[in-house]
Amino acid sequence: NLSPLSMPNRLLLGPGPSNSHPDVLKAMNTSPVGHLDPTFLHLMDEIQSLLRYVWQTDNAMTIAVSGTGTAAMEATIANSVEPGDVVLIGVMGYFGNRLVDMAGRYGADVRSITKPWGQVFSLDEIKAAMETHRPRILALVHAETSTGARQPMEGVSELCEKYGTLLLIDTVTSLGGTPIYLDEWGVDLAYSCSQKGLGCPPGASPFTMSRKAMEKLLNRSTKVKNWYLDMNLLGKYWGSERVYHHTAPINMYYALREALRLIAEEGIENCWQRHQKNVEYLWESLESIGLKMHVEKQYRLPTLTTVCIPEGVDGKAVARKLLDEHNVEVGGGLGELAGKVWRVGLMGYNSRPESVDRLVSVLKEVLK
Ligand code: PLP
Repeated sequence: NLSPLSMPNRLLLGPGPSNSHPDVLKAMNTSPVGHLDPTFLHLMDEIQSLLRYVWQTDNAMTIAVSGTGTAAMEATIANSVEPGDVVLIGVMGYFGNRLVDMAGRYGADVRSITKPWGQVFSLDEIKAAMETHRPRILALVHAETSTGARQPMEGVSELCEKYGTLLLIDTVTSLGGTPIYLDEWGVDLAYSCSQKGLGCPPGASPFTMSRKAMEKLLNRSTKVKNWYLDMNLLGKYWGSERVYHHTAPINMYYALREALRLIAEEGIENCWQRHQKNVEYLWESLESIGLKMHVEKQYRLPTLTTVCIPEGVDGKAVARKLLDEHNVEVGGGLGELAGKVWRVGLMGYNSRPESVDRLVSVLKEVLK
């Protein structure tokens, strides 16, 4: 005797998912075609070229993985790490630690460098670690969602070239909302998600690898340890051969294609600027009610802001009240920052002045 589905209409200003553009939801609601239908194969080609555009890359091997950001993360590790490879990982928050765990499971000889949560690595710190470890792969989190910090990428690829290292980056919270120039930055492997800066529901996650990373994959002495995410196989589905691999979540791909189309229509640079402008408005508005940000301004992400919970305030209770009484979601702190910060996302369709105004007005009321 269940009644038909009825879910609350929330304003999602947490670490993701963000709300989807109505056109994205409309596209998702289209009746599916078959996963080898010529019209669907054409749509896959469109997704590939739109992903190259938003990531600013020419990588031929650029696809969407059927799964969430973690699946795309695992795809980068599974296809680049061979047992015994030295993998150097920059840990400045929760997701760096996830990379450490994952790379270890694929047999990597993991070395990590760490920073207090909320800080980023300087080029000198990365250089010193590269000299010490001479890794096959260097993995960095470009946008650390647990802290709101943006890792600068300038100069990193020159270090990778010197040691013949592949550069792998996590762009889950940066794609669509923060400037990314994958080819200019010399990135060899990257992954993202659909539910943050792209303004789409979760479930189809961008993945890309360079020719150099492809060569390492083709010359492996061991098979990729994950059948579902093996790019040798997935490449035959996304490439010209069109060999059945898995039944793609058709409607997720409809949604992703529409989300990417909307970004292309706006222009990726305009989209980055919109995120920057609105987040600056958010910072000013929060400061005007006496709140402080956790990360130094120059390293703050335009997509995700960590806001310090004032002394004596029960952060969890505030977030719960915002949700229950005002239908506004903000995130709590993770790991080291649990109980210390709220995480406020302004991503994709939600990066608008109205989102800021609504949050600040209800937060003011709840804090009173
Ligand atoms: N990496 C980062 C930086 C993230 O923020 C997230 C999720 O928030 C992930 C990876 C994992 O993505 P998902 O939750 O979509 O699996």
